[in-house]
Amino acid sequence: MKRSLFFKIFSGYILIILAISSLFLLFSFRSIRENYINLLTDDLENLALSMELKVIHFLKDKNYKELDSLIKNLGERIDTRITVINPEGVVLADSKKDPKLMENHATRPEVLKALYGKTGSSLRSSTTIKKEMLYVAIPVYEKGELLGILRVSLFLEQIKILLNSIRMNIVWVIVTIIILSLIGAFFFSKSLTNPITELVRASSKVAGGDFDVKIYLKGRDELQTLVDSFNNMIARIKELMTELAQQKDTLNAIITSIAEGLIVLDKKGKILLSNESFKKMVENPSVNGKLYWEVIRESKLSELIRDIEKEKCGIVREIEIKDRNYLCSITFLDGEEEFVLTLHDITEMHEMERIKKDFVVNVSHELRTPLTAIKGYMETLEESIDVENKRYVEIALRHTDRLIKIVKDLLALSELEESSFKLELEEVNLEKILSDILIIYENDIKDKELKLVFEYDKKLPTIKGDSYKLEQMFINLLENAIKYTDEGEIKITVKSEDKMVKIELSDTGIGIPEEHIHRIFERFYVVNKSHSRKLGGTGLGLSIVKHIVLLHNGTINVESTQGEGTTFIITLPI
Ligand code: ADP
Repeated sequence: MKRSLFFKIFSGYILIILAISSLFLLFSFRSIRENYINLLTDDLENLALSMELKVIHFLKDKNYKELDSLIKNLGERIDTRITVINPEGVVLADSKKDPKLMENHATRPEVLKALYGKTGSSLRSSTTIKKEMLYVAIPVYEKGELLGILRVSLFLEQIKILLNSIRMNIVWVIVTIIILSLIGAFFFSKSLTNPITELVRASSKVAGGDFDVKIYLKGRDELQTLVDSFNNMIARIKELMTELAQQKDTLNAIITSIAEGLIVLDKKGKILLSNESFKKMVENPSVNGKLYWEVIRESKLSELIRDIEKEKCGIVREIEIKDRNYLCSITFLDGEEEFVLTLHDITEMHEMERIKKDFVVNVSHELRTPLTAIKGYMETLEESIDVENKRYVEIALRHTDRLIKIVKDLLALSELEESSFKLELEEVNLEKILSDILIIYENDIKDKELKLVFEYDKKLPTIKGDSYKLEQMFINLLENAIKYTDEGEIKITVKSEDKMVKIELSDTGIGIPEEHIHRIFERFYVVNKSHSRKLGGTGLGLSIVKHIVLLHNGTINVESTQGEGTTFIITLPI
């Protein structure tokens, strides 16, 4: 059972008050009794001394009969027992009994002390009358000779009655003090525990989410400081909670309004939070609390979540849910305990891209035939016109060639980008392919007075590749090397390295400025437009090269210094 603070403090006070009162009663009773008996002893001694002279007279005369009747008379009058005893302990006179019937008193402690010449006192039960009595005995001397002992005694019952009445008075006083102390202790305990009870009540309210609490307390002690601090703390928490609620509302509004589907998942994959867009995407209005795979049955998503748990970094991937394409990005939250998943619908974008691609392919197809026809007519025209107009036809022919090349490159690129495109793989001898190509370009290289170096490993292994595409790749690179080199050499080296074949194609041409290097593989990207056009460039050649390398699971890098030359480094798996 939980005991209240008030109960503990108050019961503590009760125990202390009762303990002090009991001790006080015990000691006061004892000391009152002792003091009272001491007083009575003194009184009895004085009484004995006042009777001494009369007793001496009878003792001297040995008139014991007279002595006994005097003693009996006196004893009755002062309601006190008086006994006279000779030095041998024989009782000579007694106020209550016949002395002849009484035993020898020499061994009584008070008598024994009086026999030694001192006043003796004793508190004990009388062997003669079997009641508790206080005895005081004095020696009676006549000219230095001990004549006898005079003993005076009192029944303690009388003292008890007196003491009891005093005790009753003390008890009443103590009881009154206890009651008053308890009332005081009650109010004191209440005043001490009231603020604490208030604090407990207010804290429970705050814990329950009610911040409209304030404790009112008057006082100037530490409890007042505590209450003030509590009130300030609650006011601050209320402010913060309001701020937090506002921020939460804003965040909720943002999350709800974004077009992307958003969910927060815990470590086990349970959906903790979701926005409207997500519910619409999965056509399920109540997804919170469910496991993600109960809502989206898509193996790619499960794969993605497995991957993020392994890699512990943000991942962006395309996935398909209910025939629509989404760009799914997933990132960790809160020290990797939860993660946020967003789904961006890219179905329209995909569609647009497809339309664009189809358009390029269709236009390219449509242009190819008329352009070839135009080229044919131009060539016929060139032969039949005079020298003066020939110049114009030549220019028109050069532009037609460029157009035909663009169309050809566009068709080649579209084919490579097609998701259904597959390489026609076979064992390819790279040395053979390159030697054949070099024969075709031998004249062009000679015309420009360039040196050609072709080095290859004698035991060059064959690779698994598409020979036609690889040919296309080398032609594009070699054409560029010839195009952009006016003097020096073109060097091709092929060697095998760690289950890879490494091809390096370098020239001593114009080189590529550093700021352009990272963009040269983009479509239609040319470093110098007019120069490239003059040389019949389309800006598509390197895009085609990169696609072919990637389709072969290879890598391509370029190192170039402006004015010194360029090296393309390709690695292809064996
Ligand atoms: P282009 O048909 O214009 O040559 P590419 O895609 O083949 O288009 O090349 C893109 C650009 O990269 C070129 O315009 C040229 O500026 C640069 N480039 C490619 N190869 C070389 C090279 N060997 N030396 C210098 N520049 C090069």
